[in-house]
Amino acid sequence: MEYLCVKCRRLAETEQCPWCGSRETKEAEGSDYCYLSEWGGEEAGALADLLNLNSIPFQTRKNPCDTKRTYYSFFVPYRALEDAKDTILTQLSGSRAAAEGARDDSGPFDGDEVDRMEMVELDGMSLEELRAYKDRLNRTLKWVRVQEKEWKRRTTVLMDMREEAENLIDEIS
Ligand SMILES: [Zn+2]
Repeated sequence: MEYLCVKCRRLAETEQCPWCGSRETKEAEGSDYCYLSEWGGEEAGALADLLNLNSIPFQTRKNPCDTKRTYYSFFVPYRALEDAKDTILTQLSGSRAAAEGARDDSGPFDGDEVDRMEMVELDGMSLEELRAYKDRLNRTLKWVRVQEKEWKRRTTVLMDMREEAENLIDEIS
């Protein structure tokens, strides 16, 4: 089952959104608009044309950014998401759009990725790639902070339960 984050409209496998940390998630339904990807400049226009051409309804949101390029997040209905992804892959990949337009939209780094992280990875990255990498670092840090908070709360529960168990053991034995 896929969950849809009500806040950022990304799909997740967990009830808590790994992107923004929101607990406001719901079961994704066909008509729910879901995050597709983020595109800038001319490429955003090209994607809009393609989606129109393929009769895929979409919504866009202008993103605040610190670069000269304006980026737009594209959202399409859940039922059309795979079609929309195919459209991008088959018709926009290999073009300048695929190379420059799409920003890295992968999730937070996992533990293994962080363990293997070395400065050398940054060498040779373009400005665009570096920005995407930094975004991903920020996303991971945000996710870690959410997890820390969660486990702090859970620690209290664990300790309470341990105390209760200890008391019961003392009573019975
Ligand atoms: Zn979210």
